[in-house]
Amino acid sequence: MPLTLPSAWQTQLSQAIRDPRELCRRLGLDDAWLPGAERGHALFEIRVPEAFLARMRHGDPNDPLLHQVLPLAAEGESVPGYVTDPLAEAEHTSGPGLIHKYNGRVLLIASPACAVNCRYCFRRHFPYADNSPSRAQWERSLETLHNDPSIHEAILSGGDPLAASDRQLAWLIERLEAIPHLKRLRLHTRLPVVIPDRVDDALLGWLGATRLQKVVVLHINHANEIDKAVIDACARLKAAGATLLNQSVLLRNVNDSVDALAQLSERLFEAGVLPYYLHVLDPVAGAAHFDVPDEEARELVAGLREELPGFLLPRLVREIPGEASKTPL
Ligand code: SF4
Repeated sequence: MPLTLPSAWQTQLSQAIRDPRELCRRLGLDDAWLPGAERGHALFEIRVPEAFLARMRHGDPNDPLLHQVLPLAAEGESVPGYVTDPLAEAEHTSGPGLIHKYNGRVLLIASPACAVNCRYCFRRHFPYADNSPSRAQWERSLETLHNDPSIHEAILSGGDPLAASDRQLAWLIERLEAIPHLKRLRLHTRLPVVIPDRVDDALLGWLGATRLQKVVVLHINHANEIDKAVIDACARLKAAGATLLNQSVLLRNVNDSVDALAQLSERLFEAGVLPYYLHVLDPVAGAAHFDVPDEEARELVAGLREELPGFLLPRLVREIPGEASKTPL
């Protein structure tokens, strides 16, 4: 049987940095960062692809991209109000890999893996092992969608849905587009940002071919994440017919200034992406050090409103478990 060679993006994914010592060494960080990085890594493993590492400043522990991925000892501190399932997703799981929180939309966990492990991730404790459906379980989820004509949109999430192979994704999309009342396909992904080579011909093949309207919601928190390769990847997604939006998380020491947020919106627009949501941090255990209080978040957005045209202003929101939509702040 002929062997299938891994795609360039799969090779990059398999070669991502997974060792705190390696990350500190590659960036020329002082050894003093290592004990904390190892403690945080023991709680939620480190994962940083080379293409993302290349956008960080060498020797700068305050780099805003590094802050998103460098484990810290603070992740082990127990902080009141910070829990393992801040969005109560366990209560809304309708079957393995199927989350039905909002009217008209369902969320499918298409892959348990991510290309990068973000330290503030609200799913850092998510039981992916219980939500990695087999083909038979997918069939049951698809039947649930088939039998509910109120559902018009399927959201592929994860992990990162684009960490799944194109063969798996093409199969899933083919099944989804056979559901007559389904109109839209939404992908929530960070892969085109951290490994822009993920947007290759195989991906563009199934994405461009589907009858479903396509929305790709990227996750970018800082302007420095958007380099030429990301801009090119966005252009390829747009050429395949996708509408591109971005959601960010407001994070202490990453993007907690009017300047940083304004530069992010400007840079997103240069890449053909519209700012959509600016989320306040979900109170997930291990991420309290990223928190920006609500009052400060509102002031930042008020400052941003003075700097930007309305179409570049993201909506400041919080996700509250049990609410029918995101809650504006
Ligand atoms: S890419 Fe998204 S799902 Fe994956 S760790 Fe980062 S925030 Fe979480």
